[in-house]
Amino acid sequence: MNTLTTYDGTIERTLYRDDEIAAAIERLGGDIARDFSGQPLLLLGVLKGALYVVTDLARAIAAHPNGPSETVVDYMCVSSYGNATRSSGEVRLLKDTSETVTGRNVVIVEDIVDNGLTLEYLHALMAERNPASLRSCVLFDKPYHRKVDVPVEYVGLICPDAFVVGYGLDYQELFRNLPYLAELQPWVFAA
Ligand code: 5GP
Repeated sequence: MNTLTTYDGTIERTLYRDDEIAAAIERLGGDIARDFSGQPLLLLGVLKGALYVVTDLARAIAAHPNGPSETVVDYMCVSSYGNATRSSGEVRLLKDTSETVTGRNVVIVEDIVDNGLTLEYLHALMAERNPASLRSCVLFDKPYHRKVDVPVEYVGLICPDAFVVGYGLDYQELFRNLPYLAELQPWVFAA
């Protein structure tokens, strides 16, 4: 349980403003729309962190006239951090996809990749189901502590080597609804 009652005074610095995030998603949407032009696409958002990325990305893809023939959005839910600020390395699947993956063009949409274990787990899980194609898109990349060499075809923005919150990313379930990406004041972790 956290004891915070307000976000006032909790933010150390803003790393990416909302307009910078929107521009990155627009670019990713354009890249994906071009790559899947005329083909059906299944976007698989990884909850909870990717809740905003996947919806904004789906709309960015729709903004392109020569994009996919259809775009279906679905979700998985995983837990890898619990309430800590470093990944446990143990990924738990809390909710599987509702859509069938077999034979589809699948793009896994993640909020952030750090050591890569979460994405590797999801990539392997989806690959077993024989999709027509399988790619990954992450909005934020922390490339400093990768433990596995997982392919990421679409990368939005590079993050500093810090624990970050906002735009879907939480600390103890808080801060997801910040429209920007931020670093927290150190005292927050002790609160
Ligand atoms: P990985 O398995 O690549 O280390 O971490 C992936 C997952 O850990 C992400 O989906 C995200 O939920 C969480 N994560 C990694 N880095 C951060 C961070 O800086 N802040 C937050 N809030 N979550 C993170």
